[in-house]
Formats: sequence, C-alpha cells, structure tokens
Amino acid sequence: MKSEYDVLVIGGGPGGAVAAWTAARKGLSACLIEKRPAIGAPVRCAEGIGKKLLTDFLEPDPRWISADIKRARIVAPDGTQIQLKEDLAGAEVGYVLDRKFFDRELVWKASEAGADVFVKTRAVEPIIEDGILKGAVVESCGRRQEVRAQVTIAADGVESKFARWCGIETAVPVQELMSCVQYLVTDIDIDPASNDFYLGNEVAPQGYLWVFAKGERSANVGIGIPASKNMPGNRAKDYLDRFMAEHFPDGKIIECIFGGDPVCRPIDCTVSDGLMIIGDAARVVDPITGGGIGNAMITGRLAAEVAAKAIAAGDTSKAALMPYDVEWRASKMGQNLERNYKVKEFFIKLSDEKMNDLADSIANIDFAEFSVKALVLELIKRNPKMLFELRELK
Ligand code: FAD
Repeated sequence: MKSEYDVLVIGGGPGGAVAAWTAARKGLSACLIEKRPAIGAPVRCAEGIGKKLLTDFLEPDPRWISADIKRARIVAPDGTQIQLKEDLAGAEVGYVLDRKFFDRELVWKASEAGADVFVKTRAVEPIIEDGILKGAVVESCGRRQEVRAQVTIAADGVESKFARWCGIETAVPVQELMSCVQYLVTDIDIDPASNDFYLGNEVAPQGYLWVFAKGERSANVGIGIPASKNMPGNRAKDYLDRFMAEHFPDGKIIECIFGGDPVCRPIDCTVSDGLMIIGDAARVVDPITGGGIGNAMITGRLAAEVAAKAIAAGDTSKAALMPYDVEWRASKMGQNLERNYKVKEFFIKLSDEKMNDLADSIANIDFAEFSVKALVLELIKRNPKMLFELRELK
C-alpha cells in the first residue's frame, strides 16, 4: 500500500465503492480500505432498490439481481392490503439485489478505473495536524501504517467511528436506531415478483416486517424495530420468529443476520477540513423504509466529484468541501429525507386501529407510483384531517 493518495476512502460498501470509482474516473489517485476480509459479505441488508436509482449508476446485470419485482403490497394490522402493480402507467417497483455480488461489482469498477483496494484493512486512527485531517493510520493484517490523503471519505457505515474520531457528532438516538434481524428463507410459497411489507404493533412496533423475494421459493424475511423497543420476549428476533411460525412454519433458514439501520435525521454537517462523510455514516438513510443503498451511492459520487474540484484548486478546507453538503441537502434526495423524517414521526405514533382506517381508505387505489409521497398524497386526499396533522410537510 502506498503511503500517499489524493483520496482515501474508508469502507467498501456501495457508498465507499462509488466514491472510489468516481475519484479514480476523475483521474485522482484513490485508495479504498475495507476492514472485512471480503467485500459484500456478510450481507446486512434486505437488498431492495428502486430501478431508476440503480440504473443511474449501473446497467442491471443478472449476476447480481436476485429478483425483478413487479408488485408491492403493504399489509395493515387487520390484513387490509395496499397494492402496487408495475404495469400501471409507468409505475415501477424495483429489484432485489444479491449484494454479495453487487458490492463486489462496484468495487471492481473502482479498481478497474484505477483505485487501489485493500480488504482486511481498517482505519484505526485519524491523522490530524493543526486541526486538519491528513489521512488515517490503518491496520492491515496486523501491520500499522500511515496513509496520507488530501481528502479522506468516511464511508464506514452505520457503525461509523471515523467521523467521531475527527470530533464530529454522529450518535444515533436509541429510538432511531432500528434493530434489524433477517433470515434468508428457502423452500417457501411466495409470490416471486412481490415485495411485501407488514405493519402493526403486534407484528413490528414502530417499524415493519418485510418479505422480499429472492427467487422462486426464497425470500429475505426480516424486521426492524427501534432498539429502544427491544425487550426480553419482545426483541426483534422474537417478533420475526412469531411471524415465521405463522406464515412460513416449514421454511428453511439458511442465513441469519443482525444489523442496525439509522432512521434519524442526517448529521448536522458532512464535511470538515480534509474530511467528507457519506452514506450510512452520514445517516442519509430513508427514515421510513430504512433504505440507504441508493443514497450511499449518490453521496459517494457527489463527494468524490466535489473532492476532485477541491483538490484541483489546491484547497481541501471545510469551506472548499462544503458544496458537497449544500448540494445533497438541496437535492431531491435531501428533500425526501427531510419530508420522510416528518412522515415517519407521524406514522410511528399511529395506533393499529388508525393504521387500519388509513389503509382501508386507499386499499382499492391503483397507484401509478410507489413512493412515500404518492401514498401520503393519496392518504391526505381521502383523509383531509391528516393535512392538519402533517402540516409541517411541504
Ligand atoms: P455499508 O454498506 O455499511 O458499508 C460500510 C463498510 O465500512 C462496511 O463494509 C464496514 O465493514 C466498513 N468499515 C467500517 N469501519 C471501518 C474501518 N474503520 N475501516 C475500514 N472499513 C470499515 N437499504 C436499502 O436500500 N434497501 C434495503 O432493502 C435495505 N435493507 C436493509 C436491511 C437491514 C437488515 C439493514 C441493517 C440495512 C438495510 N438497508 C437497506 C440499509 C443499507 O444496507 C445501507 O444503507 C447501505 O449498506 C449503506 O451503504 P454504505 O456504503 O454507507 O455503508
């Protein structure tokens, strides 16, 4: 490993990979380090992604697409279903990825473009001189060395420590850290073209349970509830096991993963002198769905673009990197995060009864777009009182 790069990226998830890929394409020397021994494993994700989001970065490839999803269903506590079908007026649902291969594809792209990639290599300490970040001390197979960089991109995910080491507040309130458990279940009867979301306090209090198709007879079956709701006998895994017993008693669990998903607001500022923070580390996860793959890639790309300009201008101060922070907040992604945060705050306070009423009011609608915005607009149309309750929303 060289001791000096233009850009050092910490973390080999989708955010870090796209940042390194973009930096290399811009002609910068880029180094990506990943603490785990393999990119993409273990998977801590339900692997769902919108089609447009994905194709903005890569052409879909059957090697890393497990399922092409044509329908989505939201199931209310009393079983009422809200449905979306893909064939309606341009509507689209999404893909379920195979992230073991998808994450690798992104890192391959970065490396093909010229980035150096090192697995089993972790950042253990920032190098800070005169208050300015100059890279990181990294540990690779028991050996420590300094890697200096003009810009360091913290892409170290939900467990992100790097930005905190640099003095940035990144704590996630315990009620906004979703405690997730997921089984990869096989040999079950499912609709292989549908992603299903189950709501309700009996099923997943203040969260949801998902069944995302992974093939003809396999699915990611998982749940996320606030870490603050995890109580003995009612931990996320207890809810998931009860659901499994009721819906898939004969399913074979071939993988079990645990993970956290931050559904708080993004951190206050995502840059400082020599530092940019992206993806889950910046908490740019959709507060309603917990989806963060696409936003990690969007912030990764933008961060590297801004870094390239700053490096070319010979100024990687906080002020020079600030356009990244300003731009993503003003973007559609930034606006959606803020709106969905407020919508989440509204929905998590609903009783099962109220949820049933709302679901019932839109159960027979043919949605042309499966987005939080479309759902909320339809709900408001049919439940005008909601407008008052959601009055802060734009
Ligand atoms: P990550 O993918 O978490 O990558 C960060 C990487 O940094 C990790 O590989 C980690 O090992 C590495 N790292 C950490 N510290 C260091 C260090 N010091 N040195 C070197 N490397 C380090 N999102 C969706 O869009 N769709 C979904 O269906 C979905 N389902 C989810 C289900 C679950 C159960 C969970 C937990 C999350 C889910 N998410 C989903 C969220 C999604 O997984 C994340 O938003 C996404 O992976 C964020 O990408 P990232 O690159 O920011 O971080």
